[in-house]
Amino acid sequence: MDYTKQIQEIAAKLFAEDKIDAFVGYRMTGFDKNQVPAIITGADDVSKLVFNDKSVFNLSNYLKHEHTRNKRVGLVVKGCDSRSLNLLLTESQVKREKLYVVGIACDGVVDDEGKKMQNCVECMFPDAVVADEMVGNHGRSGSETLIQTGSETLIQTGSETPIYKINADVLDLGSKDLVQRREYFEEVFENCIRCNACRHSCPLCYCAKCCIDQETSTLYNGANTTSSAFHALMTWSLHLAGRCVDCRNCEKACPSHLPLHLLHKQNEQVIYENFQEHLAGVHEGDRGAFYKYSMKDPDDFIM
Ligand code: SF4
Ligand code: SF4
Ligand code: SF4
Ligand code: SF4
Repeated sequence: MDYTKQIQEIAAKLFAEDKIDAFVGYRMTGFDKNQVPAIITGADDVSKLVFNDKSVFNLSNYLKHEHTRNKRVGLVVKGCDSRSLNLLLTESQVKREKLYVVGIACDGVVDDEGKKMQNCVECMFPDAVVADEMVGNHGRSGSETLIQTGSETLIQTGSETPIYKINADVLDLGSKDLVQRREYFEEVFENCIRCNACRHSCPLCYCAKCCIDQETSTLYNGANTTSSAFHALMTWSLHLAGRCVDCRNCEKACPSHLPLHLLHKQNEQVIYENFQEHLAGVHEGDRGAFYKYSMKDPDDFIM
């Protein structure tokens, strides 16, 4: 997967036609083979843009910051990123008319060792679900995928129905008894340094005053203790329940390499199985699992 040329051409055209003020894509770090998000503001910098299987970050996170807010922005989104964009649109955090969305039909991204990331192995929607323009070989991800192009909705038909795959690590953890699970998570939380990089790198954590933030916390003190980390991260994961799109931006940002997906994927699975197969951000206007209450919902999973 290398769409560098296509993305450079699209960005150049958007600047030439004066359709955007900024383009959010990826560039090389300059000192290794990794990439970082890049916000460019003119055609002169278009040649810096790259896109391949090292384009790991979820760029919709950059829509919540001042340097893009209320500007006309071009944005590259993979399938998972586009689902968080859909949620940001639904939650009135960004205006669709201000965006030009370049959707990627994604073949998956790789980790530092070049191995396909686990969320990509389990991905149900690799093609962007919201886009003005698609790049790549799309139409394979599901029986029917809706692409919102601003003024119209395209329906793209793939050959296979996506099947929900229970995360391999969640499955493994489920085989342990409660005491073992508690011990495991105590060890995980003990390694949290309360830096809040996870919360800052999540596109769906945009609250101006966050209840787990160390500086502005209203619920927990900022102490760097296991108990404080436990409460903060559990609260955080519940605020993402039914909203997390499994982009793993949070895990990539975590300096302690905590397996944060265990929290989110566990929530996702419970919600998928109990709330009408809800998956976050797949459809525009879908406000999430907690708005889908039905008298037929089972409640025997609630403690
Ligand atoms: S989770 Fe899916 S859309 Fe996201 S990077 Fe992986 S394959 Fe692409
Ligand atoms: S919690 Fe993590 S994986 Fe989920 S949407 Fe936020 S950054 Fe992505
Ligand atoms: S953790 Fe909760 S309160 Fe904090 S930014 Fe995220 S959603 Fe908002
Ligand atoms: S990024 Fe990692 S270390 Fe920092 S607060 Fe989040 S879980 Fe803890």
